[in-house]
Amino acid sequence: MLECPQKWAYKYKLDLDEDRSNAAPLVKGSMMHLALAHHYMRIQAVQEGKNPEEWLHPVPALKAIAIQNGPEWAEHVDNLVKCYEAYCLQWLDESFEVLAVEKMAYAKIGEHVLTGRFDLVFRDRQGKVWICDHKTTGRLQANQKKYYSISGQLVGYSYMGHQIYGEDFGGMILNQVQHRNPFKFARLRLPPAPNLLKRFPQVVDDAEKRIKELEDSGRPYDQWPMAINELTCYSRYGPCPHMERCKWGIQ
Ligand code: SF4
Repeated sequence: MLECPQKWAYKYKLDLDEDRSNAAPLVKGSMMHLALAHHYMRIQAVQEGKNPEEWLHPVPALKAIAIQNGPEWAEHVDNLVKCYEAYCLQWLDESFEVLAVEKMAYAKIGEHVLTGRFDLVFRDRQGKVWICDHKTTGRLQANQKKYYSISGQLVGYSYMGHQIYGEDFGGMILNQVQHRNPFKFARLRLPPAPNLLKRFPQVVDDAEKRIKELEDSGRPYDQWPMAINELTCYSRYGPCPHMERCKWGIQ
């Protein structure tokens, strides 16, 4: 809704979201997330005195998801196994306590409920709790933390982190993984944005009110306000999947 009300209506009212689930960047991102989820689930099991074998090792987990989802996934297995092995070497001396993996999180903002899923939550040796978001990319860039610091999703996660963990909350960590050879890895602390955090509840309320107003207006769903801006319609992830629909109307 903050990005483009028309895009929101296409997706949530008209169910016209494009199926991009087999697009290579998304497939590689999903597979790496799966490998890291299994990796940290097994570590958490050991730390808690449970049986890590309840979770598949990440390498067979990657192979299993590829068999399940077909050739568009299978073609990435070999590369991602190598990438995962390089990740393990890079972070060999990790010493934090895993608190949660793929954790659903909720926060109440007025009458609204904010939901999110944390890739990894851990406690460091100083007792600080960090929410870690895995970011996979073909090309790792140091300036990525600048634009992620204005990401509504990550500001929202930070907001939830403060609500859930209180004074123990340390902040957000971007766990960057370059899955293209040569593999590269970096962990960046998201720069603080106290004004965004302060204003975040109002941002959520504004977006929810806008949805309600547009719903109550009776305006047809394919006529909701359009961002119609070259920076929004064509982002660094590529063109909005609805671009042709917006240009030509729904055929
Ligand atoms: S193409 Fe632009 S105006 Fe159309 S839905 Fe996408 S972001 Fe909105």
